[in-house]
Amino acid sequence: MIHRGTRLVVNLAALEHNYKFLRSKTSDSTLFMAVVKAQAYGHGLVPVAQKLQECGVDYFAVAYVDEAVELRNNGITTPILVLHAQQHNLPDCIERCIEPVIYSKEMLEDFYAFAKAKHQTNYPVHLEFNTGLNRIGIDGEELDAILEMLNKQDHLKVKGLMSHLAASEDLEEITFTQKQIDTFTELAKKAESVLGYDCIKHQCNTSGILNFPNAHFDMVRSGIGLYGYGNDKKYQDNFKPVGTLKSVVSQVRSIKKGESISYNRSHHASKDMTYAVIPLGHGDGMKRVYGYGGAFVYINGKPARTLGIICMDMFMVDVTDIPCKRGDEVVIYDNEHNAQEMAEEVGIISYELITGIQARVPRVYIEEGV
Ligand SMILES: *Cc1c(COP(=O)(O)O)cnc(C)c1O
Repeated sequence: MIHRGTRLVVNLAALEHNYKFLRSKTSDSTLFMAVVKAQAYGHGLVPVAQKLQECGVDYFAVAYVDEAVELRNNGITTPILVLHAQQHNLPDCIERCIEPVIYSKEMLEDFYAFAKAKHQTNYPVHLEFNTGLNRIGIDGEELDAILEMLNKQDHLKVKGLMSHLAASEDLEEITFTQKQIDTFTELAKKAESVLGYDCIKHQCNTSGILNFPNAHFDMVRSGIGLYGYGNDKKYQDNFKPVGTLKSVVSQVRSIKKGESISYNRSHHASKDMTYAVIPLGHGDGMKRVYGYGGAFVYINGKPARTLGIICMDMFMVDVTDIPCKRGDEVVIYDNEHNAQEMAEEVGIISYELITGIQARVPRVYIEEGV
């Protein structure tokens, strides 16, 4: 039997399951924004967004305008928020009905001038406040000037007010997070009262949804949870990982005690051994930190540890005690041995591992009961 090669199997039924679980954590009136930046965290932007649109999400969020344009080009009609638009992207925003986050006074001035030149009225934007992450966002002191400017024009309309939590997954930082929530509440109240209308207020990411039900406001934004990871073992049973990374044994070989394997002779055999070559490397997203025994993969249900350096297109694993042959399936991560555990094993996070799976790994879409 010929097995398929390296592939990321994406189970859209798991995506729906996770969406429903997250939805069950919010009130019915809370809007749900699905974060699909970075190719839907590596799972494939368009198929994931199409499935989520079918599920009925209220909004999408992406990081860059190009991602939003790709959604529009593929039949996504749901509102789309762009978290980190740049000046040169503004024409595409207006052209494709994409809502930008305004995260600084300069950005507001640029977008205002552009909307005016394009004769826009009440073009929807979201204001982002910095409440402690200190990444992007308008600081409290700048708010008066910004609101004054907004109140003098009708080219732009503030549809949303948002902020982003810095440590929503870290329960030792509850006091800090609560302060962020209070600051956001205060700034949003001020903005709405000066503007004279209500906006969609949103602050929570996945861990915020789970840990801070008091801060859901009008909308929540979830990324990692949709893909099956809750940043906390306590919730892991409620989530179903959407992606399974699989490959295949391309060759089984043997070496004698004293010989070495891979670049820089990075594994020295202390005894005669058998190893398998897997067609997946750091050029596919199998990070080099997984070399030298930094990860196990599963062949015929048995754990096989990596040997020496991970090459760009392949790596080697010890199968001395694992009966296997060319063509056997290799599981890098799946539901049972999930990407969050694999990531944490080497001090990275699930986000980094799953978004790092490169475009050359084919995505295979399935819908299988979860
Ligand atoms: C990426 C991102 C999210 C999603 O965070 P998760 O932890 O993946 O749920 C939400 N909001 C903003 C502003 C983001 O940049």
